[in-house]
Amino acid sequence: MVKAVVGANWGDEGKGKITDTLAEKADIIIRFQGGANAGHTIVNDYGKFALHTLPSGVFYSHTTSIIGNGVALNIPALMEEIKSLTIRGVPMPKILVSDRTQIVMPYHLLFDEYEEERLGGKSFGSTKSGIAPFYSDKYAKIGFQVSELFEEERLKEKIERITQMKNVLLEHLYHKPAIDAKELLETLYQYRDSIAPYVCDVSLFLNQALKEGKTVLLEGQLGTLKDPDHGIYPMVTSSSTLAAYGAIGAGLPPYEIKEIITVCKAYSSAVGAGAFVSEIFGEEADELRRRGGDGGEYGATTGRPRRMGWFDCVASRYGCRLQGTTDVAFTVLDVLGYLEEIPICVGYEIDGEIITDFPVTVKLERAKPILETLPGWKCEIRGIRNFEELPENCRRYVEFVEEKIGYPITIISNGPGREDIIYRNSPLNKVVL
Ligand code: GDP
Repeated sequence: MVKAVVGANWGDEGKGKITDTLAEKADIIIRFQGGANAGHTIVNDYGKFALHTLPSGVFYSHTTSIIGNGVALNIPALMEEIKSLTIRGVPMPKILVSDRTQIVMPYHLLFDEYEEERLGGKSFGSTKSGIAPFYSDKYAKIGFQVSELFEEERLKEKIERITQMKNVLLEHLYHKPAIDAKELLETLYQYRDSIAPYVCDVSLFLNQALKEGKTVLLEGQLGTLKDPDHGIYPMVTSSSTLAAYGAIGAGLPPYEIKEIITVCKAYSSAVGAGAFVSEIFGEEADELRRRGGDGGEYGATTGRPRRMGWFDCVASRYGCRLQGTTDVAFTVLDVLGYLEEIPICVGYEIDGEIITDFPVTVKLERAKPILETLPGWKCEIRGIRNFEELPENCRRYVEFVEEKIGYPITIISNGPGREDIIYRNSPLNKVVL
C-alpha cells in the first residue's frame, strides 16, 4: 500500500516531520520530484537535521530510502548529505537511486545563477540549485540519466554535443566562461563512481515490494501552490508537487496510492516571489517568524527569512483538493499559543467581488484577504497527546479550519519532535490512520 505525504501550500508545511513520524511504520520512503533546492527539517534522537535530497525515512534502520526517477539528482550534494548523517552517528541508511533519475549537471547550477543575474529585479527568487535549467533540459530531451554515466563512449559524444550548444549561450547571452568538455567528463566519471553502489531499477523493485505487501511512503517537496500546472505560475517550481505525480516520479501504478496526507501549517509562510494574499508585514510578521517552526521560519537550504501570513482557508482548501487529500496533517499549532486573537483568511476580494475558490494567477495578484478573527488560547500546548485535552479555543481553531477547508484533520503536530503528535477522529467521517 502506498501513502503520499504532500504539501497544501507553498512548502515548508512540516512534511519532513510528518514523513519521519509515519516512516516508523513504513518499509520504503521515496522522494519523487524536486531536488536539493528545498529542505526538510527533522528533529529526532540523533539531533536536528536538514535533509535536501534524502527522504525523511533515513533515520530508521528498517527502511529503504529511494531517490525516484522524478528527482533532480545532485550527486555531490547527495554524497555530502549521506556523510553528514553518518558522521553524527546515524547508521548508514539503505539507499537506492533509480537508473532513470536525471543528474543535475554542474552547468545547471551556473545557468540558474546567471539567469537570475540577467533577470535582475524580475527574477524568480530561485535558490540557484539548478532546478529550472535541469528540468528545462530534461523536457528538451538533453538531460542525462544516471544510467548514461556507465556508457563511456556514448557519454563522451553526448557531452561534446551538449557543451557546444551550452557554450553558445554562455558566450553570447551571459558573457561567461565556456564549459570545458574534458573537465566535465572527468567530473561525471567521479559522479559515476560515487553513485554506482546505489543504482537500481526502482520501478521493478517497487513492483516486487508491493506484491509482498510492503508499505511505501511518497514524500513530496514544496506544496500545491508551487506546482507548475496548478500553482501560482510562473512563481512555481519546475516539477509537479502533487501526489498524482508520485506515481510517475517513483514508477508506481497511480491506483496504488491509497492515502494522501496533505500537510497544512497552522499559519502561512512562503519563500520566493509571487502573490501571497494573507501575507503580514512589520513587527507582526517578525514575531511570527521568530517564534515559527523550530527556531524560526528561515529556509532550510538557504537560511532566507520566509514571508509570513495568517492561515489561508482559500489557498489551503484548493491545495488539499488538488492533492486528492484523504487526511490533513495540521502542523506547528503550538506556535500560535502567544496570540490574543488569531486572524484567518476566509475569502478573497477581487475587483469588489468576494470569492472562496482559489483563482488563476492573473486574478490572484489583485486579491485582498478577508479576515475573520478567532480567540487565541494563550498557553503552551506541547506535550498534550489527546485532542480533547487541548484548550477549548485551540480545538475551535482546528475545527474552524477543518470546516473551511472541507478535509478531515486527523493528525495534529504540536511540536517539532516525533512524539509531538495528536491523532484525532474527524467529524468528517474519518477515523485515525
Ligand atoms: P517541510 O519542508 O515541509 O518538511 O518543512 P520544513 O522542515 O522546512 O519546516 C518545518 C519546520 O517546522 C521545521 O523546522 C520543523 O522542525 C518544524 N516543525 C514541524 N512540525 C512542527 C510543529 O508541530 N511545531 C513546531 N514548533 N515546529 C514544527
